[in-house]
Amino acid sequence: MIPFSPPYIDEDIISEVTHTLQSGWITTGPKTKMLEDEIAAFCNVQKALAVNSATSAMMLVLHWYGVTRGDEVIVPAYTYCATALAAMHIGAKPVMVDAGSDFNINTQKIKAAITAKTKAIVAVDFGGWPCDYDAINAIVNDAGIRAIFKPAGEQQEKLGRILVMSDAAHAIGTVYNGRPLGRCADITVFSLHAVKNVTSAEGGVIVLNMPAPFNNEAVYKTLRLWSLNGQTKDAFTKSSAGGWEYDIVYPGFKMNMPDVLAAIGLAQFRKYKSALLAERKRVFDYYTRAFKNFAWAICPPFEKAGCSGSWHLYPLRIKGAGEKERNAIIEKIAAHEVAVNVHFKPLPMLSVFKERGYNIEDFPVAYELYCNEISLPVYPQLTDELCETVVKAVAESVTAVLPV
Ligand SMILES: *Cc1c(COP(=O)(O)O)cnc(C)c1O
Repeated sequence: MIPFSPPYIDEDIISEVTHTLQSGWITTGPKTKMLEDEIAAFCNVQKALAVNSATSAMMLVLHWYGVTRGDEVIVPAYTYCATALAAMHIGAKPVMVDAGSDFNINTQKIKAAITAKTKAIVAVDFGGWPCDYDAINAIVNDAGIRAIFKPAGEQQEKLGRILVMSDAAHAIGTVYNGRPLGRCADITVFSLHAVKNVTSAEGGVIVLNMPAPFNNEAVYKTLRLWSLNGQTKDAFTKSSAGGWEYDIVYPGFKMNMPDVLAAIGLAQFRKYKSALLAERKRVFDYYTRAFKNFAWAICPPFEKAGCSGSWHLYPLRIKGAGEKERNAIIEKIAAHEVAVNVHFKPLPMLSVFKERGYNIEDFPVAYELYCNEISLPVYPQLTDELCETVVKAVAESVTAVLPV
């Protein structure tokens, strides 16, 4: 059996966790700080904040930016529900935009979705492939678009335009036009969920790249406070002798990352930089070399000078397949003991969004991408031999279902 996305756990990771368990401190403390510092350095920014999930991270950022009831947040239709739910949890309305041929938000369709209520654009780097941030940043900085922006509150007054946030849940290690993700949007959010490229079991990281006059150290301090009940001292500081007294200065959330999870993330992240990211690319490239020989295969268009992905997913598409055939192919692949997946069922096809009036007919490209998409397993433990097993299982299943 070839699983879809098992976590990468080795002795280094186990010993980092054991060290934390034996240290006498298991919740937010030194390991979380180390993880934040390593990710900030990797992204070439001053500050990154670790929290308990990417969903929490996005809620916290939008709330900090003053996004609230009556506001609109632009999101792609082709993403995981969390991108839109983060906006809904704080009372805002997600406004969906269709995908382009690279699965990412179609930047040419963003302008038409902007209204005087728009406060943020959340771009998702699908499968770890970067969105066109130059185009998105040009839109929010456009004089006409700035003119209709109605700032409410301190942060919106200061920025004076729509916030650009990257939902980079898939995309730690991605490079866009020579810049690491983390330096492409105002704020970038990574997920450390169990199936993502780097995991702490559950977790999220907020990478701060707010332009002047923002002080990212100060933004970090505020977000950290708001991720821990608005409490002026964290439990680690309070635990020092004589350090009991604190104040609550804001009705904050409870979203902090515990050290025992940060330890998993820290050891994983070190290995990711040195080896695991390259191993993912090996698997990704193996599939492309194999599938480009088949007339029915549409390989992911993840190639552009100056850009490189994080090789989180291999979204293969099957020419000529509709939803029904694609599902039949997946059943046949499963019979070969290979687990595959579909990324994503577009948001407007999910009940919670359908009930709120979103209609898949308004997002034809998202539907077209979804209906013949099959995500193949990509992870470092897949040897070339196992990749070959996946290729054979897919090829035989396609041939069995489609007329050739
Ligand atoms: C996994 C995922 C998330 C949510 O991440 P969590 O850390 O589980 O909250 C958000 N957006 C996308 C695109 C994802 O794939």
